[in-house]
Amino acid sequence: MAQSPFEWIDEQARARRRAGLVRTLRPRPADSALLDLAGNDYLGLARHPEVTEAAARAARTWGGGATGSRLVSGSTELHAELERELAGFCGFESALVFSSGYAANLAAVTTLAPHGSLIVSDAGNHASLIDGCRLARGTTQVVAHADPDAVRKALHTRTGPALVVSDTVFSVDGDAAPLADLAAACREFGAALVTDDAHGLGVLGDGGRGALWAAGLAGAPDVVTTVTLSKSLGSQGGAVLGPAHVIDHLVNAARTFIFDTGLAPASAGAALAALRLLRREPERAARARAVATALYERLTAAGLEAVRPHAAVVSVRAPSPEQALRWAADCREAGLAVGCFRPPSVPDGISRLRLTARADLTDGQLDRAVRVIIEARR
Ligand code: PMP
Repeated sequence: MAQSPFEWIDEQARARRRAGLVRTLRPRPADSALLDLAGNDYLGLARHPEVTEAAARAARTWGGGATGSRLVSGSTELHAELERELAGFCGFESALVFSSGYAANLAAVTTLAPHGSLIVSDAGNHASLIDGCRLARGTTQVVAHADPDAVRKALHTRTGPALVVSDTVFSVDGDAAPLADLAAACREFGAALVTDDAHGLGVLGDGGRGALWAAGLAGAPDVVTTVTLSKSLGSQGGAVLGPAHVIDHLVNAARTFIFDTGLAPASAGAALAALRLLRREPERAARARAVATALYERLTAAGLEAVRPHAAVVSVRAPSPEQALRWAADCREAGLAVGCFRPPSVPDGISRLRLTARADLTDGQLDRAVRVIIEARR
């Protein structure tokens, strides 16, 4: 028999095993007793009865799926309400909901960067923004992380439309983009600012209205942002927020909108319920930030190296990928789930434990989490 067409895959798998970088799936039990600082349920809303009941009600009313793309049969009243309320909450004119934050990012970058345009992209951006740049017709220039001067230098070379693309809160280290400076650079050159506020919505800004609100940029005519419904809102899906004419353009041009089945009604209903809860209980946002700061301060006081958190993500440095993996496994053994970031997910090669603060963490749980992380390190 001829050689397997997948021999090269087996070779890669062997190399991955040798380097200790194999990834495996571990189903999460429904009734886990683990304290979870690995997920992105920043506000503790994913299992809130109002959110799960709204999901069940939406499924009963509209069905298990959207049944078609948004432009055919996949738009329900729930989608329209969610778009109206999300835009209003975050201070933008208009919003468009996608089946994921990933799809929203692909849409925002590809539809706003036509042939002949320049995309200036932060080196620390999320994979979905990077993929958006790869799929766009414009030319991408990657610039140094969180560096407005590098952005200005890149914008000098533009000849057509230009777009500056950045996460608001970077997903690996939880550090912040210099949004005000980036917006100023964009305005000097007539460029648009496109941000990904996946980690800012629900955590930053007045009552969780997001990083753009906090920076005074919400609703600006030259600013577009994406959000995800899958982190602070405890649901699934994503959205692009911006001026109405830009959102109308996306409806007509975004391939991940036009050719994708609409967001499941259950997810739209859950996100809408979570958004209304957040309006009613704005203190959840501040609590998530306070828990993140407490985690950071107590871990660094114990001698661990961490990045000062801007939102709910706390990144703790590990000496090596192997030690990161063992550290996370020891935490799990002691009843605490933490994220573990290793190459190639981290392009700088530095492995980390990634903790996510949660607004619903009690002081006792916070004490326990800190104790477990410190003891597992020894
Ligand atoms: N952007 C950032 C910064 C993220 O961290 C993520 C989720 N990992 C996404 C986009 C993708 O969002 P979603 O999970 O809704 O597809």
